[in-house]
Amino acid sequence: LEANFSVIRNEDGPVNGLITVLHDVTEQEKIDRERKEFVANVSHELRTPLTSLKSYLEALEDGAMLDDTLRQRFLKVTQNETERMIRLVNDLLQLSKMDSNDLKLNYQSSDIGSLLHEIGDRFEMVTKDKNIQLERVIPSYPVYIDMDQDKMVQVFDNIISNAVKYSPDGGTITLKLHPRGQNIAVTVRDEGVGIPKENQKKIFDRFYRVDKARARNLGGTGLGLAIAKEMVQAHGGHIGVRSEWEKGTTIIVTLPYSVYKKAGVNE
Ligand code: ADP
Repeated sequence: LEANFSVIRNEDGPVNGLITVLHDVTEQEKIDRERKEFVANVSHELRTPLTSLKSYLEALEDGAMLDDTLRQRFLKVTQNETERMIRLVNDLLQLSKMDSNDLKLNYQSSDIGSLLHEIGDRFEMVTKDKNIQLERVIPSYPVYIDMDQDKMVQVFDNIISNAVKYSPDGGTITLKLHPRGQNIAVTVRDEGVGIPKENQKKIFDRFYRVDKARARNLGGTGLGLAIAKEMVQAHGGHIGVRSEWEKGTTIIVTLPYSVYKKAGVNE
């Protein structure tokens, strides 16, 4: 519901009335507004790296090309910006597939424990560079759940790479798998900057970042958690956050054992 207020007064005289118009913001209007916002965001997200590319290329042309150090530095920047744009476009294509229900999920019953170990192994290299400890608390017995493995890899890649990005040097990241009665929970905890309470709900929205400049510098597209959320939901699961500013963040993913029962898919 939206309200517009108009004040009624005689010319330069005192206020002698107030008209309130209430009108329903229909679902369609909301969708339209979100779509416009999305297009504006995409345009902005693409224009920023393009503008930066242009200025670095101009600087190279204006003479930086002849200076060994500058040339190398500027080419590296253009490379990084180009790679980030490619990531952004890939993320957008994926979201667009999910929006139009074009994303095929290939469910198989697989051991989520071994999947998390594989992902953990892959991250050991990155975490070592930042002197980060990656602790794993994963049961030694297999925990089978229905999942599309590639998609789940993407979900946890996104979450763990955020934990690495926002962790301080020497911090610890804990990757835990808790099997429960009806479902499993995977938690990824870091000791990083944390997220203020008022921003926590929004981090799963497309393009939302707590600190835009910082997130961009870290190479993010602002779409990682939005994609993770959609994938988890497609599996009949849920994603949430617990965080304390300057103490750290925990992302919690819960997944049902069987996607067929939970998502109402006919077996
Ligand atoms: P990005 O590409 O910017 O990382 P994401 O969708 O993955 O986009 O995350 C959205 C925002 O949520 C980030 O920009 C950051 O502000 C916040 N965020 C996500 N994970 C963490 C974390 N582990 N610690 C602190 N902030 C985080």
